[in-house]
Amino acid sequence: MSNFDYDVVVVGGSLAGLSVAISYALHGGENILVLEKKKKPIHDCAGGIAKFALDEISKLLELKRVVSFIDNEIYSFGIITKRSCIFVENDYEEDPLGYVIGRVKFIEHLTRKAKRLGVEVKRGASFENAVRKRDGFRVTYRNHRTNFVTCKYLVGADGALSKTGALMGFEVPSGDDLHICAQKWLQFGVEDIKLPYEGYFVENPQDPDDMIIIYHDREETPKGYLWIFPQGGYEFRVGIGVPQGYGTPYEYLERWIRKYLESYTTLDKIGGVVPTAKPFKEVVKGNFALVGDAGRQCSALHGGGMYFGMVSGYHLGRALANDNLKNYQNWYRGNLYKILKLHYLAKRTIYCMNDRDMDHLMGIVVRVASKDLMALSSITFEEIQKIFRKVALRYILRKPWLLVKLLTL
Ligand SMILES: Cc1cc2nc3c(=O)[nH]c(=O)nc-3n(C[C@H](O)[C@H](O)[C@H](O)COP(=O)(O)OP(=O)(O)OC[C@H]3O[C@@H](n4cnc5c(N)ncnc54)[C@H](O)[C@@H]3O)c2cc1C
Repeated sequence: MSNFDYDVVVVGGSLAGLSVAISYALHGGENILVLEKKKKPIHDCAGGIAKFALDEISKLLELKRVVSFIDNEIYSFGIITKRSCIFVENDYEEDPLGYVIGRVKFIEHLTRKAKRLGVEVKRGASFENAVRKRDGFRVTYRNHRTNFVTCKYLVGADGALSKTGALMGFEVPSGDDLHICAQKWLQFGVEDIKLPYEGYFVENPQDPDDMIIIYHDREETPKGYLWIFPQGGYEFRVGIGVPQGYGTPYEYLERWIRKYLESYTTLDKIGGVVPTAKPFKEVVKGNFALVGDAGRQCSALHGGGMYFGMVSGYHLGRALANDNLKNYQNWYRGNLYKILKLHYLAKRTIYCMNDRDMDHLMGIVVRVASKDLMALSSITFEEIQKIFRKVALRYILRKPWLLVKLLTL
C-alpha cells in the first residue's frame, strides 16, 4: 500500500473513528491518519452505557483505567409514560447496571491510546472533499490552510450528517429518521422534581443520584423521549430528542423543565442529532467504509450509538489491517444489521401507538420481563435482545392491527 501518503484516512475523531484507528493499530496496521474538525472534544452526549457494553468495548480495544472516564455508576432505572412506570434497581452490593461516561474524558482517553499506538490524529482539520484516484482517494482537508493527501482506504466516521457518506452516494437521514436533541446539564435536589409520579425518588430506596429516568408522553415528547442521566453530585443531564420537523427540542425541554422542576441551576447546554433511520444494508463501497452514526449504527429505538459505533469500529479496524473490507461488511450484515433492523421496527411500532397503547406495553413489560430485568447487571447483550423479542411478540399477539401496519412499512 506504499504508493499512498496514508494507507487509511479516517474522517471523524470521535468514538467510532478512534475505535477504528485503535483496532487497526492493535491488529498491526500502520500509516493511518484521523482527521477531526473540532479542536477539542465537547460534552455532546448523555453518556449512558450498559455495563456489558463498556466491558466488551474495553476488552476489544484493550482499554485500561476505564474508571478514569466514568462520571457515575448507575444502579437503577425508571421508564415513565402517561399513566405507568417501571422501576428496576440493583443492589449496591452487586455490579452497577451501567455507567454515565464523561464524554470529553473518554475521547481524550481514546485519543491518547491511539497516539501511543502510532496513529496520527489531526485536530482542527476539517474534511472537505475526496475524489477517487487510481485504486484509492485524494482527500482534501482544511486546517489553517488547504491540504491534500492520498490514501488507499477512506473511512467515514463523521457523524449522522456524514459529508463523506453523502459524497460516496449514501443517503443522509432526515425527517422522522433524524432526531434533533437538546440537552441541559442541571443541578437540582430530590425535592425539586414534581413528576406525575411525585415522590418516587423519596419512596425509592435507591438514590436518584444513580438512577436513569426515561420519560415519554405523546404531547410533551412527540415521537421521542426525555432522559435524566445523573452524573453524580446531584448534577443531571436532562435532554430530549424529537424528529426533525417537530419543532425545536429546546422549547420542549424548557416546557418540561418549567412544568416538572421547581428549582434548578443550569450549568451547560448542548444540541446534537441522532440517526434513527432504517439501517443501511451495505456499509462498504469499494475502498470506502462508513462506521458509527455516519453508517446509521445507532439504535433507532433509544438513540444510543456509543456501543454499536465502537464495536463496529473495532471490526472495521481489524478488516482494514487485514486489507480486506469484505470482512467488515460480512460481520455487519451477519450481526449488527439484524439488531439495528429490530430496533428500527420497534421505533416504527411505537410511532403507531397512542398513550394507552404505551401504558399497555409497559404492563406487558412488567409481566413478561420483570424477572429478567431484575438480573440486568449480569445479563448479556443476547439476553437483552431475547427479552426485547419476548415483549414484542406478546404485544403484537395482543394487537394484530400492529402487525398489519408493520408489514406495510
Ligand atoms: C444529545 C445526545 C445524547 C446522546 N446520548 C447517548 C447516550 O447516552 N448513550 C449512547 O450510547 N449514545 C448517545 N448518543 C449517541 C452517541 O453520541 C453517538 O451515537 C456516538 O457519539 C456516535 O459516535 P460517532 O463517532 O459515530 O459520531 P460522532 O460522535 O457524531 O462523531 C463524529 C465526529 O466527526 C467529526 N466531523 C464531522 N464532520 C467532519 C469533517 N468534515 N471533518 C472532520 N471531522 C468531522 C465531528 O466533529 C465528530 O467529532 C447521544 C447523542 C446525542 C446527540
